[in-house]
Amino acid sequence: MPKAQFIIRWDDVSFRQDRRKFQTLVDLFVKFDIPAVLGVIPDNQDPDISLEQGDQAAFVDELRVLEKNGWEIAQHGFRHIKHTDNGGILGLNKASEFAGRDYDQQLQDLEQGRDILTNFGFNPVTFIPPWHSYDKATIKALGQSGFKTFSDGLFLYPRLTENLLQLPMIFWSVPNRLSALEKMNSIYTICLHPQLIRDEDLTRLELFFKDYRPQVVTAASLLEQTDNLCRRSLKEMVLERIFAMTYKRQG
Ligand SMILES: [Zn+2]
Repeated sequence: MPKAQFIIRWDDVSFRQDRRKFQTLVDLFVKFDIPAVLGVIPDNQDPDISLEQGDQAAFVDELRVLEKNGWEIAQHGFRHIKHTDNGGILGLNKASEFAGRDYDQQLQDLEQGRDILTNFGFNPVTFIPPWHSYDKATIKALGQSGFKTFSDGLFLYPRLTENLLQLPMIFWSVPNRLSALEKMNSIYTICLHPQLIRDEDLTRLELFFKDYRPQVVTAASLLEQTDNLCRRSLKEMVLERIFAMTYKRQG
């Protein structure tokens, strides 16, 4: 029987982040040989998450080593600037770098960000929108600028959106009820912010890693299975409906 899979993505990664907290999390993941999806901000200009002067060259070297060990370098916005207060399709935050702006402006920012990461030697295929905020123009621009998958959406199973593999993200820490999640047989993304990690989060992660190491994957590693992942069994269609109704009631 196929098992549930998990993606662990880190948001707000840049050379201006809190290095000590970042390193603590890296050490834990490396200890258990867990690959993370790093949401790297190509040109971080957000004062709220620019905590250190930082050394960009050393940071890029470190990312390269992690990538060689199976980690994924994804793109998290471009400058992480609040251009609008538009919550986009999900409406989780009143802030966006993309939603509500013209298609051309969005495309330009996506491509400029991508160029920076490409110049560092990476080839990002996964996009993570800052503040979980994106709109239809963002999705169209993502396809145009060469992304293959994006990580966000409040639903249960992966789906194909404008030819992109959309991987939903519904957990901000290691979830409870793991056995129920296993039965629903999806791919669950857990979103972490390294600067907010507390000791109890580290303990929870460690416990999770002991049991679930083989089931943690990256977004890019799933691309080849896109068709399969977006197909639903009857049972999954029912579960998807129930999830959508439950989520709406809570929201
Ligand atoms: Zn962010």
